[in-house]
Amino acid sequence: MIHIGVLALQGAVREHVKALQAEDTNVIVVKRPEQLDEIDGLVLPGGESTTMRRLIDKYNFLEPLRQFAEAGKPVFGTCAGLILMARDIDGADSGHLGLIDMTVERNAFGRQRESFETKLAVEDVAEDVEAVFIRAPLIIDVGEDVRVLATYGNDIVAARQGLFLTCSFHPELTADNRLHQYFAGMVREVSKTALQA
Ligand code: GLN
Repeated sequence: MIHIGVLALQGAVREHVKALQAEDTNVIVVKRPEQLDEIDGLVLPGGESTTMRRLIDKYNFLEPLRQFAEAGKPVFGTCAGLILMARDIDGADSGHLGLIDMTVERNAFGRQRESFETKLAVEDVAEDVEAVFIRAPLIIDVGEDVRVLATYGNDIVAARQGLFLTCSFHPELTADNRLHQYFAGMVREVSKTALQA
């Protein structure tokens, strides 16, 4: 059994919990930093990144989240969660958790279209992953250790650096849970190695 948490300070929490459901997966709604000790992997949901950061500070989550990631536990951030994971945010002084070597631009699609749905080819996952974009951020630059998993036109919308996975859309708002199951696979892999060690 693996234990995957969803950070539940704000945003689309319930939908992620549902998408992660699987026979061998215990999904935990994470509201307190101590709960990070109980999980093998963590999802940072979409919502509003500035609000989320305010709540992360208010409930003393920043250091525990950084330590969780440093301990080699997988993290999956979607939309606002992607913004939290970025090393740099265009137009801001600094990033939040700084887990992935990438620069993001907030609300990058919003200026043209508030929200839209499409199918995307996501490397390692499938050719036709359903993706819902809502005031979505874009990855405008990635470091050499970052693997681009999906693009929309010329823009990067999903990426992975080691055990950190991210996408600028909302996979939890569709019935397509393949990206979640891909993440669960990463968590399974790490837990297996940890057990063997
Ligand atoms: N635009 C939001 C932000 O900047 C993210 C949008 C989302 O998560 N749907 O935080």
